[in-house]
Amino acid sequence: MINDQDTNIRCSFCGKPQDMVLSLVSGRNAFICNECISACVDVLKEEGVVITKTKSKPKNEKPKVIPKPKELKAFLDEYVIGQDEAKEALSVAVYNHYKRVFSKVPEGVELQKSNVLLLGPTGVGKTLLAQTLAKAIDVPFAITDATTLTEAGYVGEDVENILLRLIQAADYDVDKAQCGIIYIDEIDKIARKSENTSITRDVSGEGVQQALLKIIEGTVSNVPPNGGRKHPQQEFIPIDTSNILFICAGAFDGLDKIIEKRSGKKVCGFEADLLISSKKDVSELLLQATHQDLVKFGIIPELTGRLPVVTALKGLDEQTLVRIMKEPKNSVLKQYKTLFELDGIELEFDEDALNEIASKTIKNKTGARGLRTILEEILKQPMFELPSDPSVKKVIVSAEFVKGNADLTIIRDFTLQGQTVKKSTNKNTAL
Ligand code: ADP
Repeated sequence: MINDQDTNIRCSFCGKPQDMVLSLVSGRNAFICNECISACVDVLKEEGVVITKTKSKPKNEKPKVIPKPKELKAFLDEYVIGQDEAKEALSVAVYNHYKRVFSKVPEGVELQKSNVLLLGPTGVGKTLLAQTLAKAIDVPFAITDATTLTEAGYVGEDVENILLRLIQAADYDVDKAQCGIIYIDEIDKIARKSENTSITRDVSGEGVQQALLKIIEGTVSNVPPNGGRKHPQQEFIPIDTSNILFICAGAFDGLDKIIEKRSGKKVCGFEADLLISSKKDVSELLLQATHQDLVKFGIIPELTGRLPVVTALKGLDEQTLVRIMKEPKNSVLKQYKTLFELDGIELEFDEDALNEIASKTIKNKTGARGLRTILEEILKQPMFELPSDPSVKKVIVSAEFVKGNADLTIIRDFTLQGQTVKKSTNKNTAL
């Protein structure tokens, strides 16, 4: 920055003198003012050149305060219902990971990364847990689907694009991205087809696992700033992945059978039968998954070795689904109630109606993801009609309405020519 009082100093680009601009930056035999810098940034952005903030952290920066596992679990409880086992395992893994990143580790000790593998059916909160943890620690978060990835040279997305997504989530601050969380969904879909390495290359499975392995274990990867395929003339953003936490997830259909078979084999006869029949709940079985089971499923041993924390999430029962509709901070019911409230209408659900919605969701096998679909479906017509009717003050959703056997209960408040007519409770009034 120039503090020189010399009045001859001008911006070498626009020619404005020093006293007409906010600041002038000096280079070798040239100056540039803040306005020209902004203009250059715009031009570069228009041309698709990405400007990264690679400034290194000040040496004396205070380490980030990492919430303790119990605090992390309490934070998760505000957004995610149930899944206590997974919440505890994740809280510990995330705490240990960030202790390793932000604290001073004694010399000679190298703490290994605690990347996580989440097992469990669709829509039970795997993504939500990972997302909420990133929020709790305040680090950038990126999601990717393993099925869209291919190893370099094949049609599909390069593995490096995952890193680009994280850099984008960090607003191109590479330092920040290097401490972020990457969530890789459907990791089970890139399992290799047979446990024995085949002679022909398994493009969709093992190749991608190998490519992922490199970034998960920690490497400096060169990311093409505009995504897509790498080409030699391109500039790259170098990013060190050794402090990025990877959370991989998948339904792992069939893994329960592998575990059942293994645990059944260990005990003979009657005891084995007892063991198998007592573990009816799939998630109970999945919680016992070992690295050998995962290798049998088709995950390469090197990759399972890099995912030391394995935990399972449970399928959601009716009671939990009702709690999911009601309890989380930003619960789906609270959202719909607010939407109605903005039109001056109170939205109420009978308890039986919620049970009916939950039971429909279970039948659809969509996990909690399907709750919104059902609510949207049943509230579609009221949301179309009621905002145009100022007399409506309250609507009550009953189980029979959810089943399609009855109309919505509407409570009206008529105001005619300045006179308030008594509230009418038109039970089962058609819209
Ligand atoms: P998946 O297990 O397939 O990753 P998600 O985490 O994406 O499932 O869940 C889909 C949606 O369902 C979430 O955005 C959230 O609204 C809701 N949901 C699922 N499980 C839970 C849960 N245990 N608690 C609260 N909401 C949940």
